[in-house]
Amino acid sequence: MQKEEIQKLKAELSTPQKIVIVPHKSPDGDAVGSITALYSFLVKQNHEVSMISPNDFPSFLSWLTHSDKILNYEQTRSESDALIAAADFIFILDHNALHRTGDMESPLSQSNATFVMIDHHQQPDDFATYMYSDTSMSSTCEMMYHFLDKMDALDQIDAAMATSLYTGILTDTGSFKYRSTTSTTLRVAANLIDKGADSEAINRKIYDVNTPSRMKLLGVALNNLTVLPKYRTAFITLTQQELDDNNYQKGDTEGFVNYALSLDDVVFAQIFIEKKDESIIKTSLRSKGDFDVNEMARKHWNGGGHKNAAGGRSELSMQETKDKLILILRDYEKALQDTQI
Ligand code: 5GP
Ligand code: MN
Repeated sequence: MQKEEIQKLKAELSTPQKIVIVPHKSPDGDAVGSITALYSFLVKQNHEVSMISPNDFPSFLSWLTHSDKILNYEQTRSESDALIAAADFIFILDHNALHRTGDMESPLSQSNATFVMIDHHQQPDDFATYMYSDTSMSSTCEMMYHFLDKMDALDQIDAAMATSLYTGILTDTGSFKYRSTTSTTLRVAANLIDKGADSEAINRKIYDVNTPSRMKLLGVALNNLTVLPKYRTAFITLTQQELDDNNYQKGDTEGFVNYALSLDDVVFAQIFIEKKDESIIKTSLRSKGDFDVNEMARKHWNGGGHKNAAGGRSELSMQETKDKLILILRDYEKALQDTQI
């Protein structure tokens, strides 16, 4: 966003507005972190603010301040539709295409509100009046920090906001591990600690909250691991039956795909998780080096994301989906073999 645009947005937000903040469907740490931090900021500016998520968010994020105020669209359809219809501003965070909001796409597209997008995914759709899109950014939470900086509002960041933002940066960088982690990312994280984010407590609340059933489910997932050395690929499957047998809770499979990627000389990993209620198989793709899973997810799995982390879906059976993967991999054999790590 150019300086003039920021000034214009600042002027438009200088009087109280009706604002709706929207994360992507199945919001993750970065989505929930960025919406709760922005919510805090806008409420402090006397705006009338609502957060509406297309569906529920994982319970390991429910300790974040203001996360209890997030409306679940699936359970508040008419209330949420009214808020969207009445909104002056709609902030779209951590996604860049309205179809990522599932059933909210239709009411959002019909809204006359001014759209503000803050996002780091590739190939943004062109629907927002104010668009802060930067694919080199580690996370939307890092962008939110820069956004507040541009708005001359860094002094508005309190400990709760710092905690939300730190959480999103932590989760979206794989604990400051991915290549998207720059020296600026670490400086932002350091500033957030200065503003009250407790790194040890946040890490504990995010990562040390395993349940015995999640650990058992991880065991099942690892048992289902298939390695394809020819393609430097490893993949994991989980059927609905396996999820049910292990008391699956939303968020339990978060990070499982990284175990497949952690194998030596594997440059591409994928997990397939059956969702019987939606009649789909949800898939997550991860890669090392320059192997581009965003392109693969867009082309073959009806999804997208980033170069090294993307997601998508399959409408085939689990067996057909696995067969499809093998067929796809044939086209990528050279690219996979040539990937430098
Ligand atoms: P995850 O695999 O953790 O669900 O998502 C990895 C990355 O890909 C995230 O940045 C997420 O926003 C993006 N992503 C996940 N699923 C989809 C999808 O179905 N479509 C698109 N466009 N992006 C996705
Ligand atoms: Mn993100």
